[in-house]
Amino acid sequence: MPQSQLPDLNTLWLKWMDSVSSCLRNNDYLGAIASIFHINAVFGSDNRVEFNTTKYNELTTASLRVMCKHCKVELARNEIEFVNLLLPFLESVITKEKYQNSWHCPKCHGINRVKTTEFIQDKFITPRYLGVVPEPPKPGFGLSDRREFERKARDWIRLTLDELSYALGLERREYVPINDRMDLADLDDND
Ligand SMILES: [Zn+2]
Repeated sequence: MPQSQLPDLNTLWLKWMDSVSSCLRNNDYLGAIASIFHINAVFGSDNRVEFNTTKYNELTTASLRVMCKHCKVELARNEIEFVNLLLPFLESVITKEKYQNSWHCPKCHGINRVKTTEFIQDKFITPRYLGVVPEPPKPGFGLSDRREFERKARDWIRLTLDELSYALGLERREYVPINDRMDLADLDDND
């Protein structure tokens, strides 16, 4: 961002953060959410946080993988199809089950039993600093809806302020004071 805009950013940040705090003190969650939108608007477009529930869910949802016991290949849950296989007579007598939930490995075509399959949880560890947060919650009607909205609003505000603090850090790092710029220009004539 141009260097002249940084002091403005700091002033605006403090102003809107003040507004968020005062809204929260008055349980004005819609006001706090509006102030957060104002904070976000002062960032350069590269560092602005995106409000997109679908994208946020895609980025943070844990995905399940399975390992084929035959070829040891790891497969995503959506790569395989689960089927109920009719058990051989003797096995059926021993296990007292007629069918067994199984899946075919698309790589080696081996049959895996669900019971003995190793499931691997591909968990997203820190769903923070993605540059994306869900869209803010909307208030409903009635007392229980209001409580639910307040709970969701507090969670959303916490998550979004974390993202915005990170965005502010990025914006500051990209800022080079005017004196430093002149020093760099002295060292490098191409600058
Ligand atoms: Zn396999």
